Amino acid sequence: MTKKLYYTDGHLFDFTAKVLRCEENKGRWEIVLDETAFFPEGGGQAADRGNLGGVKVLDAHEKGGEIVHYCDGPLPAGASVAGQVDRELRLCRMQNHSGEHIFSGTAHRLYGCENVGFHMGEGDLTIDFDRELSEDEIRSIETQANEAVRADLPIEITFPSPEELTALEYRSKKELTGEVRIVTIPGVDCCACCAPHVNRTGEVGVIKVLNAERHRGGVRLVLSCGMWALEDYRRKQQSAAEISALLSAKRDEITPAVQRLLHERDALKEKNALLAMELIRFKAAQQPETEGNLCLFEAIPDEIAVRELVNLLVKKAGGLAAVFFPGETGGYRYIIGSRSVDLRKAAKAINAGIGGRGGGRPEMIQGSAAASEDEIRGFILAFPKA
Ligand SMILES: [Zn+2]
Repeated sequence: MTKKLYYTDGHLFDFTAKVLRCEENKGRWEIVLDETAFFPEGGGQAADRGNLGGVKVLDAHEKGGEIVHYCDGPLPAGASVAGQVDRELRLCRMQNHSGEHIFSGTAHRLYGCENVGFHMGEGDLTIDFDRELSEDEIRSIETQANEAVRADLPIEITFPSPEELTALEYRSKKELTGEVRIVTIPGVDCCACCAPHVNRTGEVGVIKVLNAERHRGGVRLVLSCGMWALEDYRRKQQSAAEISALLSAKRDEITPAVQRLLHERDALKEKNALLAMELIRFKAAQQPETEGNLCLFEAIPDEIAVRELVNLLVKKAGGLAAVFFPGETGGYRYIIGSRSVDLRKAAKAINAGIGGRGGGRPEMIQGSAAASEDEIRGFILAFPKA
């Protein structure tokens, strides 16, 4: 059994311990100490990282009561070594884990929510609750959770006896056996947990909900606390400042400024479509009526406008009415219509002649072509009616 120093002191970053075992496995060394301040992966939180006697601790797992440190180098068994837990990472994770307890305890007290899922990422954490919450409910949980931070309450760690445990009301995700560690925040939360915590709620700094979405009959929330929340605030402030500069709008007026921009864009789109149709009618009017085929190359990269042009040209051509326009990745796209030729049947021959692919209905086909303008024009104009 490794003695878990992080169990009772989350702020212990430097410690000395004895190496009990060191074994190589797939390029990493698995090191077991008599005691450790390194928190192993567990309960939705990743393992601490840091240094141990000059080697790097990359990961840590608990196996049958022992904590195995996965390191990038060996340490001699029996040696006394100094360990340093990555302080910044641990402090941020404690702010977020304690913040999660405060939030989940508050949600449980106010709305009877059970926490059915927890995962801590790098910069935020995810909580799943078993019931849906409205925006207002989430906001009041967030406010009261931050009230608990402001009250700077103690966060107490206890190991109750089985008898004491039966009498205790606490949140827990599963049936627990053996020694149970209870984390209590008076008046806010009481929960079984194995992770390191800050000493007082004030250390959490701030608890902020970043996102909420429906999830399996309940709600999935993304939260950020403490320094991670500060980083998030900085990123958002930066984005708001950049958008504000781009739109020449005051920072608290960027939403109406974006709405204005979208309206302008929609109006331009509409105007553009009208102009395109106007242009197409003009172009179609310029084409002579013919018993044979028509073949046009247009710069308009708008399929709807091209289709309309083909519809107008079909009335003027006895054979094929073909329009080619620029493809998105080079070459041409085409739409071909006809009153007399069954294009579904002719598609294979047409594609073979213009290096193309595509198909459609008897009266209209569309696709892409790889041949040159001259080759395509020569082929289409010579294409027989029957
Ligand atoms: Zn916990």
